[in-house]
Amino acid sequence: MSLVPFDDRDGWIWLDGQFVPWREAKVHVLTHGLHYASAVFEGERMYGGEIFELTAHTERLFKSAEILDMEIPFTVAQIDQACKDTCAKNGLTDAYLRPIAWRGSEMIGVSAQNTRIHVAIAVWDWPSYFKPEERAKGIRMCWAKYKRPSPETEPVHAKAAGLYMICTISKHAAEKDGFTDAMMLDYRGYVAESTGSNVFFIKDGVIHTPLPDCFLNGITRQSLIKLARRQGFEVVERHILPEELSTFSECFVTGSAAEVTPVAQIGEYSFTPGNISLSLADDYARMVRRQLVSA
Ligand code: PMP
Repeated sequence: MSLVPFDDRDGWIWLDGQFVPWREAKVHVLTHGLHYASAVFEGERMYGGEIFELTAHTERLFKSAEILDMEIPFTVAQIDQACKDTCAKNGLTDAYLRPIAWRGSEMIGVSAQNTRIHVAIAVWDWPSYFKPEERAKGIRMCWAKYKRPSPETEPVHAKAAGLYMICTISKHAAEKDGFTDAMMLDYRGYVAESTGSNVFFIKDGVIHTPLPDCFLNGITRQSLIKLARRQGFEVVERHILPEELSTFSECFVTGSAAEVTPVAQIGEYSFTPGNISLSLADDYARMVRRQLVSA
């Protein structure tokens, strides 16, 4: 598959309230967001013309910005509309959306009080985050070198660019060793999340998932928990130690990009993608396309 660079594509990007041709949606090298990671973003998907949990994503973007002391110069309703308009302008009804807000170039330094807050929305066709053949078998993960930091160390609930530094390093190391992704522990040693998705485990028909007290409480995670509970599953949110992984039979990860993806291995622990993971993955796929008649 040839890789088309993201700055060399056709289409339209919504930038600060206007559509600009894709290749012209540029920032200057002296941009605060680039130097100091003063950027927050979202990842969401449109399925069959409707963006799944659009307002929840937009509200999280605003919350992330607020945590970073950035005031987005639009309303949630305006960004919601801009997300829909950007899909329409690009002729897409099934797409991945990437809204981002960042500090501009007025000041370069730790203090950035007078920087303008910019917002852009780009959308593109992105069928599957993990390769379809890996998805079917379950992805293989190693343990990440870095840990999710304490809420006293970083603003852990913001979907902020800076928090992805340790994710990219960990994912690169995993890929170098032939794994698809890396599972991160938290600062206390509990199982946290992968570099871009939340994790669930199954034991004796009960679903267990780490308590998101120092990492992103994903919108897919929350939707999946609701879906599973509606179907009568018991879902337990709690701290999970890595040693406990030997007691779980199934495992899957969730995320707007990853959707619901079975996991075959995390480090020394193996799982067999089974009925529960596969049926939840299938139900999630039908739910986002509004084809699931809920109980
Ligand atoms: N954790 C991390 C680190 C992520 O990047 C993502 C993807 N945004 C998630 C969890 C899952 O979040 P969501 O379901 O809201 O996409």
